[in-house]
Amino acid sequence: MEATETIDLQLQLQKEKDQRLIRAAYRRLLRAIGHGQIAEEDRDQIRNAFEFALEAHGSQRRKSGEPYITHPLEVARICYEEMGLGPTAVIAALLHDTVEDTPIELSDVENRFGPKIAKIVDGLTKLDGLYNVESPQAENFKKVLSTLVEDVRVVLIKMADRLHNLRTIDIMSRHKQLKIAAETSYIYAPLAHRLGLYNLKSEFMDLCLKITEPELYNEINNKLKQTQKDRNKFINDFIKPLKVELDKLHLNYKIFGRPKTISSISNKIKTKKVAFEEIYDLFAVRIVLDVPLEKEKSACWLFYSIVTDVHRPIPERLKDWITTPKSNGYESLHTTVIGPGGRYVEVQIRSKRMDEIAEKGFAAHWKYKEVNSLQSVYDHWFDSVRDVLETPHNDAIEFLNDFKANLYGEEVYIYTPNGDMKVLPKGATVLDFAFSIHTDIGYHASAFKVNNKLVPMGQALESGDQVQILTNKNQKPTEDWIQLVVTGKARSRIRTALKEEKRKAADMGKEILERKFKNGKLLLDENLDLLAKTFNFKTRFDLYCAIGEERLDVTESLKIFHVDKGRLIENKPEPVEDKEPIAKSSPTTAKQNVGILVNGENARQYHYTLAHCCNPLHGDEIFAYVTTNSGLRIHRSNCPNAEHLMVNHGYRILKAEWSDKLEETFNAELLIIGIDDGPGVIERLSHHISTKLGVNITSFSIKGHQGTFEGKIGLTVNNRSHLNYIITALSQLDGISSVYRLDHT
Ligand code: MN
Repeated sequence: MEATETIDLQLQLQKEKDQRLIRAAYRRLLRAIGHGQIAEEDRDQIRNAFEFALEAHGSQRRKSGEPYITHPLEVARICYEEMGLGPTAVIAALLHDTVEDTPIELSDVENRFGPKIAKIVDGLTKLDGLYNVESPQAENFKKVLSTLVEDVRVVLIKMADRLHNLRTIDIMSRHKQLKIAAETSYIYAPLAHRLGLYNLKSEFMDLCLKITEPELYNEINNKLKQTQKDRNKFINDFIKPLKVELDKLHLNYKIFGRPKTISSISNKIKTKKVAFEEIYDLFAVRIVLDVPLEKEKSACWLFYSIVTDVHRPIPERLKDWITTPKSNGYESLHTTVIGPGGRYVEVQIRSKRMDEIAEKGFAAHWKYKEVNSLQSVYDHWFDSVRDVLETPHNDAIEFLNDFKANLYGEEVYIYTPNGDMKVLPKGATVLDFAFSIHTDIGYHASAFKVNNKLVPMGQALESGDQVQILTNKNQKPTEDWIQLVVTGKARSRIRTALKEEKRKAADMGKEILERKFKNGKLLLDENLDLLAKTFNFKTRFDLYCAIGEERLDVTESLKIFHVDKGRLIENKPEPVEDKEPIAKSSPTTAKQNVGILVNGENARQYHYTLAHCCNPLHGDEIFAYVTTNSGLRIHRSNCPNAEHLMVNHGYRILKAEWSDKLEETFNAELLIIGIDDGPGVIERLSHHISTKLGVNITSFSIKGHQGTFEGKIGLTVNNRSHLNYIITALSQLDGISSVYRLDHT
């Protein structure tokens, strides 16, 4: 009797505890929504959705032991309070896991909440589906983007879901944590950035850093705390004289210091290779003005003039995103001034509306519908996403590479000779610009003038450049154009054109081959695959192409066969060759004296090779990847394949670094672009490299084009700084416009 009573009592206590947790979470949501903010009927629907989800999830629990319903409640609150979404999103967030995780059917949701909500819940359920493909993350990203252009809210709610899961991730296994972090930094953080959801993106990045590099995260976090007092004092000293002047304007404003996020500080430490103590801009000072829409612009400039009267500005650091907002909708006026002690301080000046858009981005757009520039900014972007989605890609990875370049990063503003402006991602080239104007102009672009000067095709653009494109109808895209563009649009258009060319070549090749076969009375089907296989073509299509492009001569190739009853028979079988013939893609075997430490130990005991996709040099940041059957492979941390490897095979990644003792040389390849001033250019370059710089050349190819040339030069170098030295030396030669290190992919 007594035992049963104890169990009953425990159950009773547990039940009461659950109810307390549920009530608290529900109350938090209601408090966030507030009173009078939303219509009574929406309120009723929110209560309905809560009750519906509560019943659906029943006794389910989260991994932490809490009742499951606390999760959708919190996701709903994040949607409303932190992201600024409306009641529809709150209702959909409450229901977001019902169809996936409970016996509830989508039709139940539709019957009770209508088609609009059901459609969002359906979108959220599908986003979580499983993928039976080689690269689940890339495929996943594509799915997220397709959903995005259909209904942005689905993706925004998904982000709130992800944020809550990340905030409560401690309970998960390390492996799962790393996987979620990789997916977040791969998909959701860049998207949040592109949608202007600054707060969300920052928290994503910080939480990911906390998972992937806990030591670094804690170190920065602690140091930020230790230096807080000094920082506050500095900010106060900076603000005090400013306030005196600003108050004289009798306008409503707020001024405060904004700390940088931990992830952005860690980025700085890594990319600039400086210590925490050497980073001066750990914060920015922000001024937020409360003025009506029509006065925003003039008020911001008025404040700017006062800030720069009090503290001396660095003129080059003025950034005016008020006149021309960023393509994610960001508006603000930034200036860097010299504060107390000669320290540089960034000051951001913006209106309350701009501030809200800067922090909540797309999500804030409903609130400011009347400012239609923001809407058109996103419409434009969604159009370009649709564009990339609709272009055929060989695989999801190719698609992703096209896309990722356009997610992050700054923009440049480029003008046509008529003064029309185009916004392109930073790093975009004149060829990107041509494609951004019109596909046909891109296809036939043959010469480029930037500010009236002829430049090579791969020239990167800078804000304010005026670009003129000369076309020639005989011009058409070639394989190497892909390397000369960064925008997804240009890249996918070039690929489409190349495919079209291939198809034409294949048609022609097929015709030639069929005619030859017919003349020689050869059976077609029986012999085609044999021919393809003999000459190492994967498909018949590849075989046709090679013939059409005159890489394979049919008459010559048939000479190694004799014919028996219409069938081709190989004359005498060649001895079977070594099974690993592909020289180009196989990694360079490192000699034994290369020093690499794996997980802090000398790697000599392992079999390892340097990856060919990124050709790591001594001095590059590297990691080791455990291959299935050829030991360790060393990649550069910024290898284009790195993220893919980490996302999909994170458990196979080992920490690696170079050891100091090293007597080894490495292969590297440079792309050199310059003005083609006649046949002497090869000699001049190779002479300079081998004689003046004393560097061994392993390969050299050069192509002239419309007065410019592009050379690819393979070199043997000692390490990264040696290569950098060579790049600098070559860049300074007459007629050379740019020199890049090639990654081989
Ligand atoms: Mn969820």
